[in-house]
Amino acid sequence: MNGQVTGAGFNIELRERYGNLVSDRWPVSIDPLPDELLSSWLHRLAIANGIAPRSFASVLGLGVGMWSSRLDLALPRHVAVLLGHRTAIAHDTILKMTMTGGALAPLLLPLRENARRNRSTWMQYCPSCLAGDAMPYFRRKWRIASRVSCFEHRCGLRDRCPACRSGIATFNQTELLPQHYCAKCGFDLRAAPKASISVAARQLDRSVADLCRLELPTGSRTAKDLIARLLRAPVSAGISFAKTLTTLSTSARVRCFEQLAADSPDWLAGNTDAATAYRRWAILVAGGHEPLIARFANLLEKHQESPRPKRSSPAGADRAALFEAYLRVMCVEGVRAQRDHVEYRHQHQIGESDDKRCVIVDRRVNSADCADTVRRPTVSGGAPDKPG
Ligand SMILES: [Zn+2]
Ligand SMILES: [Zn+2]
Repeated sequence: MNGQVTGAGFNIELRERYGNLVSDRWPVSIDPLPDELLSSWLHRLAIANGIAPRSFASVLGLGVGMWSSRLDLALPRHVAVLLGHRTAIAHDTILKMTMTGGALAPLLLPLRENARRNRSTWMQYCPSCLAGDAMPYFRRKWRIASRVSCFEHRCGLRDRCPACRSGIATFNQTELLPQHYCAKCGFDLRAAPKASISVAARQLDRSVADLCRLELPTGSRTAKDLIARLLRAPVSAGISFAKTLTTLSTSARVRCFEQLAADSPDWLAGNTDAATAYRRWAILVAGGHEPLIARFANLLEKHQESPRPKRSSPAGADRAALFEAYLRVMCVEGVRAQRDHVEYRHQHQIGESDDKRCVIVDRRVNSADCADTVRRPTVSGGAPDKPG
């Protein structure tokens, strides 16, 4: 039926459908938040548009169950295109929220709707982070099994609702409730008590995160070694001889980290090449890469403050002299590291003959070896600098 219909005193004109006139975008689009996981953004997007998360699956042409968590791991192209089209969020921005194809993939918590006691769930959270969010959301880093604490709030993560003990299941939420409410019992996860974790275990957590950031992007044999050692952490800690890190609940992994933090760093640094062992050992002992850099900066500061005879600098920077100074400072740092290591060994009653790292450290702190091992830098576009 087209055209005009003439009635008694007025005309009825058939127009295009409303949906054909307005944009084909959804009424509300929301921007992803820092480090937000795709499923978290999808749940917020659904609720903002007045659709319960469970029903939103059919809007995307998907089945029920862990539909959004599965998209985190594998986002079909047609779904990514649809989301971009309906929200005007850039394709790359959407892809960055997924957990696909990254070096951390072997450390991802497995998708599991119902988790028995001591078994992992698919998602962790920090109640204080959720409480501090203007719009509570779930972070990508909470999907990693080697992350057990919140660096900002200095507490352990949680992986269950403290009221009903079920895991996070917003994908099953049938009400228009934000995702910080338990989908099973309605408990506000922001009110969950802080989970305790020792300072040493938090430092180990941070060190492991730093090592993953430094080593995993290389995709080298060293990176694979790090992943394998992290997965074997429960065995190294004597927690369980049958499970890998990804299968354990967050509370069991916290116990695992607390045990490992009290032991020798050999579980992560032993029996590998000297450079890798030294890097891992230095970061583990310092409690992270940043504290290690801070220690080095302090050392440089003290070195600069020490009285030295004044002399005029030659025209242009003497790179060779600077490099020699750098080597000397690094060697002093090595001596300090060795002293810390000896103290650590003494505190933990680790025999020198049992600790292969001693050999590595002793070799590195020898100043002659430092000079021999490290090559001098080459001046860009010219010949190598002469020794100062
Ligand atoms: Zn937090
Ligand atoms: Zn609950």
